Amino acid sequence: MMSNLLGNPHSASSPSQYTTARIEDIRVRLLHFFNADPAHFDLVFVANATAGVKLVLEAFRCQRDGFNYVYHQACHTSLVGVREEAKESVCVDDAAVHAWTQGRNPFGRHPGTASAVLFSYSAQSHLDGRRYPLSWSHDLRHTTVSSSSPLYTLLDAASLAATSPLNLGNSEFAPDFTVVSFYKIFGFPDLGAVIVRRQAKDAFKARRYFGGGTVDTVLCGKERWHAPKSHYLHESLEDGTLPFHNIIALDTALDVHRELFGSMAQVASHTAYLSRQMFHGLAGLKHANGEPVCVLYSSEAGDRDKLQHGPVISFNIRNASGAWVSLSEFEKLAALKNFHVRTGGVCSPGGVVAALGLQPWEVRRNFSSGFRCGTDQDIIAGKPTGVIRVSLGAVSIASDVDRFISFVGEFYREEKQTIALPPVSRCPDSVRFEVQGIMVYPIKSCAGFAVPPDVSWEVKPEGLAWDREWCLVHEGTGQALSQKRYPEMALIRPSLDFDNGVLRVRYTGQRHKDMLEGISVPLSANPWAIDSNSAVRTSSSRVCGDEIDAQNYAVPEVNEFFSAILGVPCVLARFPPGGQGRSMRHAKARIQSHQKKLERSIEKENRSMPGSFPTLPSPPDSDSERKKSRILLSNESPILLVNTASLDVLNDSIVAKGGQPVGPTAFRGNIIIGPSRWSEGTSSDLAYLEDGWSSLRIGMQRFQLMGSCRRCQMVCVDQETGEKREEPFVTLAKTRRFDGKVYFGTHMRHEDHSGTQTKETQFPTIRMGDVVHADP
Ligand SMILES: *Cc1c(COP(=O)(O)O)cnc(C)c1O
Repeated sequence: MMSNLLGNPHSASSPSQYTTARIEDIRVRLLHFFNADPAHFDLVFVANATAGVKLVLEAFRCQRDGFNYVYHQACHTSLVGVREEAKESVCVDDAAVHAWTQGRNPFGRHPGTASAVLFSYSAQSHLDGRRYPLSWSHDLRHTTVSSSSPLYTLLDAASLAATSPLNLGNSEFAPDFTVVSFYKIFGFPDLGAVIVRRQAKDAFKARRYFGGGTVDTVLCGKERWHAPKSHYLHESLEDGTLPFHNIIALDTALDVHRELFGSMAQVASHTAYLSRQMFHGLAGLKHANGEPVCVLYSSEAGDRDKLQHGPVISFNIRNASGAWVSLSEFEKLAALKNFHVRTGGVCSPGGVVAALGLQPWEVRRNFSSGFRCGTDQDIIAGKPTGVIRVSLGAVSIASDVDRFISFVGEFYREEKQTIALPPVSRCPDSVRFEVQGIMVYPIKSCAGFAVPPDVSWEVKPEGLAWDREWCLVHEGTGQALSQKRYPEMALIRPSLDFDNGVLRVRYTGQRHKDMLEGISVPLSANPWAIDSNSAVRTSSSRVCGDEIDAQNYAVPEVNEFFSAILGVPCVLARFPPGGQGRSMRHAKARIQSHQKKLERSIEKENRSMPGSFPTLPSPPDSDSERKKSRILLSNESPILLVNTASLDVLNDSIVAKGGQPVGPTAFRGNIIIGPSRWSEGTSSDLAYLEDGWSSLRIGMQRFQLMGSCRRCQMVCVDQETGEKREEPFVTLAKTRRFDGKVYFGTHMRHEDHSGTQTKETQFPTIRMGDVVHADP
């Protein structure tokens, strides 16, 4: 620019001609850089790799019968987005691509008709550095020759080309379209390119748009006609003025890069060496208790087998007790120490989900909660939401790697053995109870969902995960409906389908045969942000006397389902955890006076017994303490505990009077405990012991008891048939009445953990069979 006048190309002036000539030279120089023979390939300049993808998409979008799209799981977001314009699209993993090369169509036996099929994949994953075979393009081209619509392949080489030679030497093996970003190779200029295999150039014939630069003659007005440029492919695709200063800078960039680093092969072996050091260094960091500090999602880089890993390493960090380290915390500290790492989903939607083992509904839920709480909350439900990624390049040196490994060791390696809370010992005399059932009631007042025996269930401050997050509200008054008034709600059975990310709701009654099919709604907390079909409106509702803001579903099929069954105009509403203001509620449960009396007598008894336990502080019942425990839509407290020993005693009284025994579901408990295998007492010894307890340990978790649960006639609704009976309320009123009120079951809440995070405190769970240890 100091010594030449660089004119805008496409005109006859000498500065313009000079620029045009330089651009054409550089185009060829770049093709040679990728070992691509200009006789077989053309190079089209674009703004970046993404713009290259969009240029290819523009051609496919215009195919007469559209196109079908297949993309590999490791693809960058910029390639995933292409699916939105395809007729049909499918995301495939390695096995599916392999099967395809063997002739199995990824769309199944009935691939829709489309004019073309486009297959995209990454030469190297930008998430974990894994490399994918360049030969896939060739293999697929050969297996699909007989099929009706032609197949084209799009290779994303943006990550690979940054530190490795991209070798397009064999045009038979080469992908039809290869996109690269030059700034990733040279640092400057900010430009990209699509390298097109000439055999595939017909795909662009369908492109309709033309602009200045891509057309020879245009008629406007009375007649409509234009003649596209057709001599070189790139001429017909580079709309508008090329970034000619940038392209000329590329010439210099190639020189400087060679001067500094030699060949791309040298860069590749240098970065492969550093990457192995990094991998071994991180993998070798161990806490004093022997647990690894880093969980690595990448494998070791290799240079012997070309198809291994590039210098990109992803991982997450755990403390000695297995709790995950927050990504944003790590990133802040790394930035202070002058390391430039990337954390999060790193534009690799398929790769992150595969690495972290996330289910689609979890991603939706994470998205929804990120929506509400910002990005600092990056460990959700005991799983990280992204990764820490370190990339090494031509400029990285061995001491960078050493410094990074020492940094991770210094801040995240725990030298001291930490002592985690041990599980309750299975010692017969202290253990008389165990968990016999776990129930959640996703929709307030509807049937419960029994947690399967082998599933560890999350315990949240608001209660068990998914308990009472939804309710039905009267369309006119906004009042939450309950079984007390609508006993048929017991026949509405919600179930949590995590594989499909939905709450399914079935009706098990006889009266409404047309409703047997049921409905489903997404589990994600902000479904409208994800699926525009599930419109939701915030509206004011009333639950147990509290004015709240719930989100009402505005989906006609959903609301008609409930309204028809209950015979009342109602809508489904959601009240997800984590709300503020009128989107949150507080527990109302309190220690009752019959319990206080009991407490005092236990205290007296303990004092009189030598070697007895010291009295623990009594459960909080002052207003300020109670305010701390949040609830969703349950009546009074986060969790309700039911003791089957108490139930047995109650049923004995009912049966003695000629009545029918009732099951634990009548009391709508969340955690059902009962005498353990080691328990020696009879039910009558163990009945109602819960009245005197102040805290509990279940497995590895602590709970604070919040007082007995006051009962009403709702316990008389038969949960199987939805019919009202007399029992158990009549017997309860005789045997469990204190100060004129009837009690059965106990309120409680999970106790917050303070101190070192462990796997169990970061993601608290309980499961069936867990041992229950009570403190008086
Ligand atoms: C960086 C990158 C992209 C996007 O490149 P842009 O130049 O930002 O459009 C696409 N794919 C991979 C693998 C990348 O690493």
